[in-house]
Amino acid sequence: MTNVLFLKNVLVVSLAMNMGLIWKISLDDEQALTSKWSIHQNLHFYAHKNNLIQQEEEARVSKRAPTTSSGAATDGLESVVINLDHGDPTMYEGFWKQKGEETTVVTSSWQHISYFSDIKNVCWFLEPVLVSAITRLHKVVGNAVTEGRHIVVGTGSSQLYQAALYALSPPNGSGPMNVVSAAPFYSSYPLMTDYLKSGLHKWAGDAYKFNKEQPYIELVTSPNNPDGFTRQDVVKGDKGILIHDLAYYWPQYTPILLPAVYDIMLFTVSKSTGHAGSRIGWAVVKDREIAKKMTTFIEINTIGVSKDSQTRAAKILQAVSENQKEAESFFDYSYKLMAERWRKIREAVNKTELFSLPSFPAETCSFSGQTFGQLPAFAWLKCEGEVDDCEGFLRRHKILTRGGKHFGACMKYVRISMLSRENEFKLLTDRLPAIIS
Ligand code: PMP
Repeated sequence: MTNVLFLKNVLVVSLAMNMGLIWKISLDDEQALTSKWSIHQNLHFYAHKNNLIQQEEEARVSKRAPTTSSGAATDGLESVVINLDHGDPTMYEGFWKQKGEETTVVTSSWQHISYFSDIKNVCWFLEPVLVSAITRLHKVVGNAVTEGRHIVVGTGSSQLYQAALYALSPPNGSGPMNVVSAAPFYSSYPLMTDYLKSGLHKWAGDAYKFNKEQPYIELVTSPNNPDGFTRQDVVKGDKGILIHDLAYYWPQYTPILLPAVYDIMLFTVSKSTGHAGSRIGWAVVKDREIAKKMTTFIEINTIGVSKDSQTRAAKILQAVSENQKEAESFFDYSYKLMAERWRKIREAVNKTELFSLPSFPAETCSFSGQTFGQLPAFAWLKCEGEVDDCEGFLRRHKILTRGGKHFGACMKYVRISMLSRENEFKLLTDRLPAIIS
């Protein structure tokens, strides 16, 4: 009994801290995403702590069915904060846990001492074992052509994005290069483009609205973050250079139709296999000079990319290619999980008039043979009716999401991560239909 009382006290203190943090978020302006990140991390931590305390509390008092003031029975989880602001791919932990030894990498202290990996390669810090794993996986999946192209490795595809901007912006241009992407665009592009206030490039906003007779770089994100749609370039001017961000062009998110053959294509393990914490991305680049300049950027920026991480990523990508013959391969598993989650979130949203989700036409995937519509890593949810600030509305229901303004869209929309752990996803799909106002 004393224990239950103690846990209740801890829960109350923890909730008070949560509410303080939520209040602090509402004061943040659009530019303060970085501090939002740490606040959200804290929230996540407290939410997790709440969750554990709540579960323990529930276990102890499970014989008593909790009720609201109106007398209706509740599950006691209404106070838990669900943080789905970031696309943290913890959904994949379950699959990789079963793999155990097969994908474990052991590194001795004498290994990976040198800065260099392959001095003959344009990208001299790229581990040959990672090149083989990347080219093999693209061949197996059929989502990109790598033959005759250069691979540049980066600390996540975020570093490669910046390397590509550096490589494509002329050093002696008459002004900074315009960087555009069709709204709704990935919220980090404007921040990454402008945070160093470079004289080389500047964020020029929504590609649909770009009408200057000036050189530009257009980011084509396909499938798109935040809304999941397949995309093509929209400006179609003669002074444009394209970067294709294909972070989600994998068969758990979208039917693979053709191998992509663009000039600069960005990929990442963060979204392909879920290993965001390893910070490994790669660019497939047609032009040798561009690949060289991107390499120079990374050389100046971080003198290469962690070999420990590259070796780990190689092992994981190899396992994914080899696994294809097994009863449940990585892409089978992740496709089924995404399809199930999309079925559940659509079911939850259909139970209320308050929200809507985009719909996608079904196509047949050349890799899996399955016919399906996109299963995006994010739900681009619209608040229907009177609600103009969907992010604030959901925050009042303790669901943390990222509002439309961060993506160049209106605040009737929010982006919700679909890649969380199962318990958080379940809380979301239980809570959404219960929201009345
Ligand atoms: N591009 C897009 C479209 C993304 O969604 C993300 C991750 N949210 C990235 C790039 C960055 O990925 P990474 O973790 O490899 O830096």
